[in-house]
Amino acid sequence: MRLGVKMGGTRVVTFESDENFINFLLKLNKRNRYIRKVLEHEKEHLNKARELGYDSQLAVVVWDTMPPILLAETIEYVGAKPTLQDQIKIALAPQKPSKADYRLARGLGEKLKC
Ligand SMILES: [Zn+2]
Repeated sequence: MRLGVKMGGTRVVTFESDENFINFLLKLNKRNRYIRKVLEHEKEHLNKARELGYDSQLAVVVWDTMPPILLAETIEYVGAKPTLQDQIKIALAPQKPSKADYRLARGLGEKLKC
């Protein structure tokens, strides 16, 4: 587990294994079913990122209180950040992208036009 840069009360926490990710969410009282679903979804992003040649890890964004409040599950890039086109592909990789995924893809698409 690695604690990321603190910015305005939120913090990104990355995990080196599925187990660490699962344990973190269990500690925040998330249910097994929820965790399984989230893991499956985030893996679809991860696998696409890896397929495109980017190293990435499971991550969460938390509000930095004690205990932390979960804001979002996500993936974090280790090393090279994908191009905008690849970020869009990664955002839309899951069979059922979330609203946040669509929003991200749309935002990246807007940037591409600039
Ligand atoms: Zn997603």
